[in-house]
Amino acid sequence: MPGLSRSLDRAKQRYDVIVVGSGYGGGVAASRLARAGKRVAVLERGREVLTGGFPSRFPDMKNELQVTGKRLHTGPASALYDVRLGEDMHVLVGCGLGGGSLINAGVALKPDDRVFADEVWPGQIAQDGLLAEGFRRAQRWLNAQSDPRAAEHTKFKALAAAGSALGRTPVAPPVTVSFEANVNRAGVAQPACTRCGDCCGGCNVGAKNTVALTYLADAARHGAELFTHAAVRHVAKSADGTWTVHVRRTDRDGAAAPELVLNAPIVVLGAGTLGSSEILLRSRALGLALSDRLGERFSANGDIIAFGYGATDPVDAIGIGYPPKIAGVEIGAAVSGQIEIDDERDLSQELRVQEGVLPSALAPVLPVLFIPNGRLLGALQSLISGVYKGPFSRLQTFFAVSHDNASGRLVLDDDRLSLVWPGAKDEPVYARLDAVLSAIVQQAGGSYVKNPLAGSVMGHQPATAHPLGGAGMGRERGDGVVNHKGQVFDAGPGRGSTAVHEGLYVVDGAVMPRSLGVNPLLTITAIAERAMLHMAQDYRLAFNDAPAQGPLATPADLGPCHPGSRSEAEAIRDPA
Ligand SMILES: Cc1cc2nc3c(=O)[nH]c(=O)nc-3n(C[C@H](O)[C@H](O)[C@H](O)COP(=O)(O)OP(=O)(O)OC[C@H]3O[C@@H](n4cnc5c(N)ncnc54)[C@H](O)[C@@H]3O)c2cc1C
Ligand code: SF4
Repeated sequence: MPGLSRSLDRAKQRYDVIVVGSGYGGGVAASRLARAGKRVAVLERGREVLTGGFPSRFPDMKNELQVTGKRLHTGPASALYDVRLGEDMHVLVGCGLGGGSLINAGVALKPDDRVFADEVWPGQIAQDGLLAEGFRRAQRWLNAQSDPRAAEHTKFKALAAAGSALGRTPVAPPVTVSFEANVNRAGVAQPACTRCGDCCGGCNVGAKNTVALTYLADAARHGAELFTHAAVRHVAKSADGTWTVHVRRTDRDGAAAPELVLNAPIVVLGAGTLGSSEILLRSRALGLALSDRLGERFSANGDIIAFGYGATDPVDAIGIGYPPKIAGVEIGAAVSGQIEIDDERDLSQELRVQEGVLPSALAPVLPVLFIPNGRLLGALQSLISGVYKGPFSRLQTFFAVSHDNASGRLVLDDDRLSLVWPGAKDEPVYARLDAVLSAIVQQAGGSYVKNPLAGSVMGHQPATAHPLGGAGMGRERGDGVVNHKGQVFDAGPGRGSTAVHEGLYVVDGAVMPRSLGVNPLLTITAIAERAMLHMAQDYRLAFNDAPAQGPLATPADLGPCHPGSRSEAEAIRDPA
């Protein structure tokens, strides 16, 4: 597929719609509103990475890491992995055209109905039938499916054997992966998955159904203009009621880069839980009247990554990448199997344990993480591909998801987004997950390693890759930041409690008022699809979600490829 992005130099000053961020929520909005004939601009802070350009060696992976803490910022502002170190909890999110979809495992699950029956949601969400339609559309476009050969993979068999400790048999969860070559709904040809296991390092085959290969490709096909290296700082209302969007370039020297101001009657924030909350918090600090609930109800979705080291039998859960680093091995997609623990009486006790794969680019660093004096061994093993044969062939990686109390709070601290959640590590979910994972690891003959980086700069805080909330839905501005359609409540004087800012929307993970208990991508996509159906009614727009026809635009049609695409990624790695 050709590159989709353009240089910000080519941006016009005014659009019908500006979409901020290009993950699941932003991608849905861009595709649907472009289909409705709107002139759409997408502003994404990260860069475009084309299939084949994802990191496959450790030095490349290192350059794809940006880490921000209270007194720390390292790594390029457009690095794919964006780690926020917090005093109470760390958060990992994706950065790039396609957002988290570029580096996630693609597990696509629908939450238990009891999640939406919780009265924390505005009633309409479960009542008007459009959520079900949102899920249908999300499934059609992301085409999640279970690996038909999941049970053949060593890691699935290892989970099945270890799961007997809990009396559970794993199932193959749906993942956003094309197991057969196909032309997807956006008209993009995708090869079949090679089962290389590198989904969380970025798919160099083009088989993962990312937002870039689906919704964003569709948006570009329908005329949306996609700009990378465009970090939105804040939004403000103009005297004529339209919105100004204040943008800082991330491909120039940050502080020195002049701010760009674009304008549109409709602005859709899809910058993710952290991004959209930060933009709204900064906009409020600059005078936009928003709900007092802004920043509240942050949830980590009861999510952890943990490991089992020293199992007796092989697990084969280190990716081999593409082109493959070793021949004759099939790993499976990043997640092939999951154990489901349901609880009919108490939703909060439910959990999902998935067997995960570490991307191949991380292989050389594993000895350093798991073995005392592992640095030397790491050098040796990276020479002889030992990670695929020695103790690391028996390393188990787990992704686990459950429920927490969503009592974190995002705040602006000296203009930097910060998470405040003093009781986070004592949330009951972590003890529950530790007990289940320890039992599984013990059954496999290994030791449970909750956090191999504990004691380093990572400390002992929990970490999540599923941040939710901050601009949660509510019935009115006293209990939420947006309404059930994603419209932002207006807290200006004299405005009614359900009044909204005309034309300002949030459609990403930030709008979730609680944990989902399953991996969130499908719900975020479905709720964004639902918001677009409501927007269509409110603005009398017409669009469908039929498969796109005909070839995609060529790079020549799009103008020069933005310097943020593959060539620039290479320049960052090798400045010479
Ligand atoms: C390693 C990993 C594995 C995961 N595995 C799974 C999984 O298997 N299943 C699942 O359901 N979920 C998984 N997740 C979580 C999932 O990817 C996220 O929940 C999802 O991507 C969030 O979607 P979103 O639309 O809210 O925002 P995002 O996908 O985070 O997209 C937001 C976009 O906005 C951009 N942005 C942010 N701030 C600004 C700004 N100021 N200006 C312009 N652009 C901005 C970001 O760069 C990003 O591209 C995983 C996450 C990670 C990191
Ligand atoms: S297993 Fe490999 S080929 Fe398949 S989706 Fe994941 S990264 Fe792509």
